[in-house]
Amino acid sequence: MTAFARPFRLIQRNGVALDGAEFPNGRAIVLDDPDWGLCTGARTLDLLLTHGYHGARIKWPTNVPAEHCGHPKPPFSEHTPPTECVLRPHHQGSHADEQGTRWWLTGPEGEQR
Ligand SMILES: [Zn+2]
Repeated sequence: MTAFARPFRLIQRNGVALDGAEFPNGRAIVLDDPDWGLCTGARTLDLLLTHGYHGARIKWPTNVPAEHCGHPKPPFSEHTPPTECVLRPHHQGSHADEQGTRWWLTGPEGEQR
């Protein structure tokens, strides 16, 4: 199995958002109570919405590849929006953002990765 679960946010009718994930086989879970670890699962996301969260909507992350490295790009100034590396995890060489701009990461000890 190569695919990973896709994260989403379930926005309830009252506006409260819950974190959830849809798995490659179509099953979905949502964390009802992260403090207590309570989750609700269903065979499909549609079933979850129909039976557990009537009137809720799903918000998918935008512009985020399913799997990516995620290393933060060093800020050039305090006004630079935060950007993460969009290459595959454990990639070789430099990091790159969505525009294809590449950068090298220098660690706290000065090591280059
Ligand atoms: Zn990277």
